[in-house]
Amino acid sequence: MTYDTIIIGKGPAGISAALYLVRSGYTILVLGSSVGALERAETIENYYGFPQALSGSDLASRGIAQAERLGVEIRSEEVVHLGMEELWSVKTDAATYTAKTVLLATGKSRSTLKVPGFEEYRGKGISFCVTCDGFLYRGKTLALLGAGEYAANEWAELGVFTQDRMVFTNGAEVTGTFPADTRFITQKITAFTGADTVTGITTEDGTTHPVQGVFVALGTAGATSFAATLGIELTGTDIVVDSEYMTNIPGIFAAGDCTGGFLQIAKAVSDGALAAKGIHVYLKKIFT
Ligand SMILES: Cc1cc2nc3c(=O)[nH]c(=O)nc-3n(C[C@H](O)[C@H](O)[C@H](O)COP(=O)(O)OP(=O)(O)OC[C@H]3O[C@@H](n4cnc5c(N)ncnc54)[C@H](O)[C@@H]3O)c2cc1C
Repeated sequence: MTYDTIIIGKGPAGISAALYLVRSGYTILVLGSSVGALERAETIENYYGFPQALSGSDLASRGIAQAERLGVEIRSEEVVHLGMEELWSVKTDAATYTAKTVLLATGKSRSTLKVPGFEEYRGKGISFCVTCDGFLYRGKTLALLGAGEYAANEWAELGVFTQDRMVFTNGAEVTGTFPADTRFITQKITAFTGADTVTGITTEDGTTHPVQGVFVALGTAGATSFAATLGIELTGTDIVVDSEYMTNIPGIFAAGDCTGGFLQIAKAVSDGALAAKGIHVYLKKIFT
């Protein structure tokens, strides 16, 4: 089936948009791999309507229950790839779905490593997008950083460009579905080295592994990863949206922390509602 909208993220922005869209009669699917930022918020006291403080997890569960009561389909799946065929194709660790529009409500991106050299070689051999940059590194010795399903998806794509490659898990448990012959380096990374571009990755045992390029696929694919793949405009790590909450790519909308600004629940909820309005206008204009 084709959904009118697939919402990536089941935090306040994604759920708020879902509430508006389902009540307008649209077919929607919400995909979320975790609760999001609220999971770490011990006490919420500044959100409207709760005389007693409550935990972030409690607030998130209430939002999800509210959406489910209204008939929103919510799946706990991780999105590993977002692409365009005739319509938007959203690939998760479990299935591939199709939609007319997509709302990115993925929260704040955190796919960086705080080790010497990482920031220095970002864009100088360290890339965040196999689809965009893989071709530039064909036949080279490459490293992929990550251990989850998103990394496994990037690993498969990287195989088109080189077989001389290894996965650096940086000490994380491997949870992605990698082929049996995948070469893993499991030690923690202590530095990225090089000259004009990155040429080595040093691990905690003191070994420097020679590389000619590094692709980053840490944790889950966030807003910046999708942005890199699709050519979505960013300011820093924030997705740029217009007054209708649409990105520069028609049919792709964004809301909440991933668009930057005031990183608070109230703003995320407001963004979600306004993005739903923007999606409604777009669906009416393009698909009816
Ligand atoms: C410790 C802490 C305390 C806070 N305290 C407060 C407070 O007191 N008051 C307040 O207003 N705000 C507080 N905040 C901020 C608030 O939590 C965020 O502003 C808000 O949750 C943002 O909502 P969001 O929907 O944009 O993103 P998030 O809530 O982060 O939700 C992001 C969603 O996207 C999903 N996702 C991301 N990538 C993928 C993928 N590839 N596949 C599938 N799903 C994906 C995540 O699993 C999650 O469901 C706090 C934040 C933190 C970290």
